[in-house]
Amino acid sequence: MINRIIIVGGGTAGWLVANHLGQAMKSRPEMKITLIESPTIPTIGVGEGTVPAIRQSLRKFGISESDFIQRCNVTFKQSIKFVNWLDKNIHGENHYHHLFDVPVPYGIDLAPFWLNQHKQTAFADLVAAQYQVVEAGLAPKAITSPEFGGLTSYAYHLDARKFADFLHEHAVKHFGINHLYGDITDIDRDVDGYITALHSPQLGLQPCDFVIDCSGFNSVLLGEKMQVKFIDRSDHLLTDVALAVQIPTMEHSIVPPYTLATAHQAGWIWDIALTNRRGVGLVYSSSHMDEEQACLKLNRYIGGGLENYPWRKINMRIGRREKFWHKNCVAIGLSQGFVEPLEATSILMTDFSADLLSKRFPENRAALELLEQRFNQRLLHAWEQTFDFIKLHYCISDRSDSSFWLDNRDPATIPDTLLQKIALWRHHPPAREDFFTKFEIFDFENYLYVLYGMKFNTPAPKLAPEYIKMAAAVQERVTLEAEVLKQKLISHRALLEKIHKFGLQRL
Ligand SMILES: Cc1cc2nc3c(=O)[nH]c(=O)nc-3n(C[C@H](O)[C@H](O)[C@H](O)COP(=O)(O)OP(=O)(O)OC[C@H]3O[C@@H](n4cnc5c(N)ncnc54)[C@H](O)[C@@H]3O)c2cc1C
Repeated sequence: MINRIIIVGGGTAGWLVANHLGQAMKSRPEMKITLIESPTIPTIGVGEGTVPAIRQSLRKFGISESDFIQRCNVTFKQSIKFVNWLDKNIHGENHYHHLFDVPVPYGIDLAPFWLNQHKQTAFADLVAAQYQVVEAGLAPKAITSPEFGGLTSYAYHLDARKFADFLHEHAVKHFGINHLYGDITDIDRDVDGYITALHSPQLGLQPCDFVIDCSGFNSVLLGEKMQVKFIDRSDHLLTDVALAVQIPTMEHSIVPPYTLATAHQAGWIWDIALTNRRGVGLVYSSSHMDEEQACLKLNRYIGGGLENYPWRKINMRIGRREKFWHKNCVAIGLSQGFVEPLEATSILMTDFSADLLSKRFPENRAALELLEQRFNQRLLHAWEQTFDFIKLHYCISDRSDSSFWLDNRDPATIPDTLLQKIALWRHHPPAREDFFTKFEIFDFENYLYVLYGMKFNTPAPKLAPEYIKMAAAVQERVTLEAEVLKQKLISHRALLEKIHKFGLQRL
């Protein structure tokens, strides 16, 4: 029987897993869940942008959205605004939005319509009322909206350390998770290779039936001890370093309801506004830019004074484990792999993996092998989809101002699976049928936003008169909807202030 779970690692991943499993194991009171974290190895302390799926998890855990917003310096995220991902010499200063509301209003795919008649309008503006909402700096909901419900779709920006602490408190208080400090230095395995105990100098031998490796880039169990190979993907995704800094903001400054992602010669810069500060990070390829240039660029971006703030250099290991579940050990979080921060995929993959694991958590060893296979299949698909989607942002750019952008367009750096999709979309706009499974981390809708945000050149398809009529009517409704939303919604900062004062309607 599997009755003792140990989670190793107390970062965002470890505590998200603790909550998922704690919730799922309520029906198995004999299950003992312990989280062990090193007293000396710090958490990575970045990871401040999320995607809307996180709302379902927080709600499932029984968390109050108001408490979460108040405690983790949360702001709302409705989009990623990509700035200058196209050549400025051709397009001038340019930007596009990858919104969270889907670009198929009322179930109608307007991409063929846009390709025919409306390329002067931003694609996102034509297909989603949310475009006007985010450009006006408005909140996604009203103070009277229920917790986790919005008038537009949204996720959060948050303080990573506060978020881990918040999840920690919840897991201990509501799910009885046992929390210990200790370094895990070795494992015991039985004759079949299953882990039976963890060694810790501070805690002694810790017997276990199942372990979850949330030890970050160290991957101390699955990688180091179980020797599951790391598949390096830095040949496809070229950025490998981030310089991260936090800058305090003025009390009344505007809080954009989106992540800003501004491209530069060798990567991009994230800019995430929380209630009290901005988190800014320059992501770059160390083969195309040195640290001195990167610092200068970051300094220029924040308006000078970098030396006054404690900034950090973070090396990013780009790739994934060959598999994510081996015997009775599952890796979740950075120990599973990492792409790069664009599109905030890491917490998404963590949350997805933890949810998947907790929904079908094994009762005994009999089903382990089958569960392992299915988990690995689904995760492998999700990882490969993620690599493709992130690479898309770089390889369809027409920037030629540096070798970084030219190298990104070199077919040798593009996965075959993505090359095939791009080739297809040079003839036909994407269709839902291009995505085979019911579950895609990045789906048809996400590709539409990025492809046509970046003015990808698909020839305009021929349209039936009935479709044109219907599409025009839908477009009018989107415009009207945008006007109504602009009337109803208040500014992002004003809503945050109200939530801090009064809270939202509890569920
Ligand atoms: C530059 C950068 C920007 C990012 N931005 C985003 C973003 O915007 N959105 C997003 O979704 N994700 C982002 N991420 C990813 C995000 O930071 C992680 O998904 C998230 O923080 C989870 O990390 P973790 O818990 O896996 O690892 P960590 O936070 O590193 O935690 C590891 C834990 O393991 C413990 N540990 C390590 N070794 C041992 C040992 N031997 N024994 C016991 N304990 C041990 C440590 O003490 C720690 O508690 C970013 C990552 C980077 C590098």
